[in-house]
Amino acid sequence: MKRAGIAAVLGMAAAFTAYAPAAPATLAAPSAGHASSTVCADQPAQARVRAGAHATERNQPGAAQVAAMEKDFQNRVGKLRKASTAAAITVRVHFQVVYGSAGNVSDSVLNKQLTVLNNAYAGSGVTFTLAEIRRTQNAAWFSDPEGNERKMKSALHTGNAQDLNFYTADLGSSLLGWATFPSSYRSQPSMDGVVVHYQSLPGGSIGNYNEGDTGTHEVGHWMGLYHTFQGGCSGSGDSVSDTPAEQSPASGCPTGRDTCSAPGADPIHNFMDYSYDSCMYEFTPGQSTRMKNQWAAYRA
Ligand SMILES: [Zn+2]
Repeated sequence: MKRAGIAAVLGMAAAFTAYAPAAPATLAAPSAGHASSTVCADQPAQARVRAGAHATERNQPGAAQVAAMEKDFQNRVGKLRKASTAAAITVRVHFQVVYGSAGNVSDSVLNKQLTVLNNAYAGSGVTFTLAEIRRTQNAAWFSDPEGNERKMKSALHTGNAQDLNFYTADLGSSLLGWATFPSSYRSQPSMDGVVVHYQSLPGGSIGNYNEGDTGTHEVGHWMGLYHTFQGGCSGSGDSVSDTPAEQSPASGCPTGRDTCSAPGADPIHNFMDYSYDSCMYEFTPGQSTRMKNQWAAYRA
């Protein structure tokens, strides 16, 4: 089933600025200090948005930021023992259900989301176990989790670097989710985690994006992965060697799409692209290695 037109209607221009006033499809960028620009879904962004949405997310790293992050990462990886990077990873999942008049998703749905994660990451040696389901009724946090991010996370975040705080709330009509990178844990531990639209969970109401792969995608960032289209066609892209370069996010499921002259068709089936849930089903070995190294560098 394809309903590509709906997202285009829902999508509205949104300025990528810090703490923009809340509006139905205006995506605020909760962290001040990041580059601000108005971009569309066909340009790099760090969160996941619906097709046709004009939106992005705040920790969209620019080239200089990526370079700094990668330098720190390589320094850390170089000091790690091989054993620590080869170990299997177990992630404790704390579902943080934030709800108002809606959004109090069932245990059943959350367990399905957990299964989606385990299936997606099985080949990467990452296992997710349920630590808790915590339910918080707060209409303001539910309806504007970006604008209330610091308050919400400061009150609710639990565990350490190996605990995944998986928040669900209403992210509006464009944004599907956002995440923090492993490298930011040390400086802002209570902000660590992923936030996803509650209607993106398995069986949710967002057409084409309701199989739980927004969760898979955001957790990919939380594990240290960039988008497959990071950096476009030039440079080191997503810092993974076996994901072909990609100029811009894919939308829908455009088989054969090939936006860069470098070898390989666009990785539209990769969880770190923007394709429909039904279209994305893989991480590459290079991404799996990067996740393990990121874990060892920043979460172990
Ligand atoms: Zn993303």
